[in-house]
Amino acid sequence: MTASAPGRAGTAAPRLADLPLRPELAGEEPYGAPQLDVPVCLNVNENPYPPGEQVVADAAAAVAAAMRGLNRYPERDALALRADLAGYLGHGLTADHVWAANGSNEVMLHVLQAFGGPGRSVLSFAPTYSMYPEYARDTHTRFVTHPRRDDFTLDVDGCLAAIADQRPDVVLVASPNNPTGTAVGLDVVTAICRAAPGVVVVDEAYHEFARPGTPSALELLPEFGRLAVSRTMSKAFAFAGGRLGYLAAAPAFVDALRIVRLPYHLSAVTQAVARVALAHAREMLAQVAALRAARDDLAGWLRGRGHEVADSDANFVLFGRFADRHAVWQGLLDRGVLIRETGPDGWLRVSAGTPAEMEAFKTALTEVLDASAGGTTDHDQEQSR
Ligand SMILES: *Cc1c(COP(=O)(O)O)cnc(C)c1O
Repeated sequence: MTASAPGRAGTAAPRLADLPLRPELAGEEPYGAPQLDVPVCLNVNENPYPPGEQVVADAAAAVAAAMRGLNRYPERDALALRADLAGYLGHGLTADHVWAANGSNEVMLHVLQAFGGPGRSVLSFAPTYSMYPEYARDTHTRFVTHPRRDDFTLDVDGCLAAIADQRPDVVLVASPNNPTGTAVGLDVVTAICRAAPGVVVVDEAYHEFARPGTPSALELLPEFGRLAVSRTMSKAFAFAGGRLGYLAAAPAFVDALRIVRLPYHLSAVTQAVARVALAHAREMLAQVAALRAARDDLAGWLRGRGHEVADSDANFVLFGRFADRHAVWQGLLDRGVLIRETGPDGWLRVSAGTPAEMEAFKTALTEVLDASAGGTTDHDQEQSR
């Protein structure tokens, strides 16, 4: 790869291919949900309702206060924030049971830095979150998957056989799962915890959107010292831009993550603003019930139009199937509606949005599919040939 480099440090303006990149990164693209400037963004499962003015004012004051001390490094262990997060989670948790980082993406990276690594493996259940293989790649951890059933639920016997077969160091279970929306019962999580030789992480990024009364794997923490439950403020909490993810586990598990984190990984500004958001939890979460209802309405509407829809406990719906899903995605985008082309081939994922966004989506999808039925687009002429 470096053969063309003329000197020790190479040419002044190298192309990526000229750099001595780790071989397994060659040809890789950065994580890329398109960030397009369109009127209706239903592609990354954000809460579409921005924080209210009182939260904004309190956060501004907290940022000003943090700013006055910004010549100093932030509190490295973020203990006050972790205590607030523990209070939000309940279940008798305290600050030393909770870890926090810049999004649960970083939390999960810490988990694999601590418990994965060269010669180790992580097992997950496909189709699942597209970032999992990337955390594995970046930590030199082998990524293995066991398939879900056709309805995207987990078959316990198959999962246990995969665990016995692979002896994974880390098992990663998303519940509700992304991109399918499928929740995993605590009976299944319990069976996995009993069988797993290493650690088990249940990614509950969408837990707040689950049907009321759906139990959290937090309930199992007292029983399993190698279990961790990961959460985020990016989805229900309407704080995606604040970048705050967290995890609850035994204090020793948290100590393991403290070893691998970068020093001062959470800025003083992040800590201050996240604490304000948590102090206003009720207000930040106020639209969750409306978003759940929007999701159920959306699923019903799509089924009524004859689509297949995966049962969802999250704030999005996976629907299909399309012979050419990219054409449908593009048709929606042409009409100002951005959704996500992800999951198994033939399926698309759409986030629950405001009533106006849901109307725009329904109108656009109807137009795209009607146009396709009439054979009026280039694409459909291709399809019908
Ligand atoms: C969105 C999402 C996350 C959250 O990522 P952040 O880094 O906290 O924004 C985690 N897990 C899954 C499965 C997700 O879909």
